[in-house]
Amino acid sequence: MNVLGLNDPKLGEVVVSEQELQSRISQLGKELEADYADRPPLLVGVLKGAFMFMTDLARAVGLPVELDFMAVASYGSATKTSGIVRMVKDLDLDISGRHVVVVEDIVDSGLTLSFLKRNLLSREPASLEVCALLVKEGLQKAKLDLKYVGFKIPPTFVVGYGLDVDEKYRNLPMICTYKA
Ligand code: 5GP
Repeated sequence: MNVLGLNDPKLGEVVVSEQELQSRISQLGKELEADYADRPPLLVGVLKGAFMFMTDLARAVGLPVELDFMAVASYGSATKTSGIVRMVKDLDLDISGRHVVVVEDIVDSGLTLSFLKRNLLSREPASLEVCALLVKEGLQKAKLDLKYVGFKIPPTFVVGYGLDVDEKYRNLPMICTYKA
């Protein structure tokens, strides 16, 4: 296949197209708008993978949201999480008493999100929900209470729309499988 002019043999099929992404994100934006109409939320994007989702989602919510970012890193190989997560960049804002929505790119084992939720809940937000663009089917060990989910996808490694391998493929406008 030929994506962005690249004839890259490592890219496989399209799992979520650009059009499917945009239409689902606009629905998610409307859901958030209805649920948070009386209490505009603070959107917390998890870098780097969620940067593209965050910018599209924020524009789809017709409320005066605020944005902040944090970055975590998990030890492991390029295509597998180890479950050991550390904070690389903390939030700039104080979230105590705030209505927080964590904006995540993809939930695989759920270990990263468990770490993030524990960390953020200890700061006593008024509420904390998660909006994950992609959730891999059947892999989560702990119950995660994902209130907003874009797409459930099969448990294969994917790239694009923020998701990388060694910092590449983040700017693909769609989600594709990747052949390691
Ligand atoms: P978890 O802790 O849920 O196993 O993994 C979450 C993190 O691992 C994501 O935030 C993402 O950074 C990375 N990850 C998990 N699955 C994939 C995938 O299919 N593709 C890419 N590029 N990253 C992934």
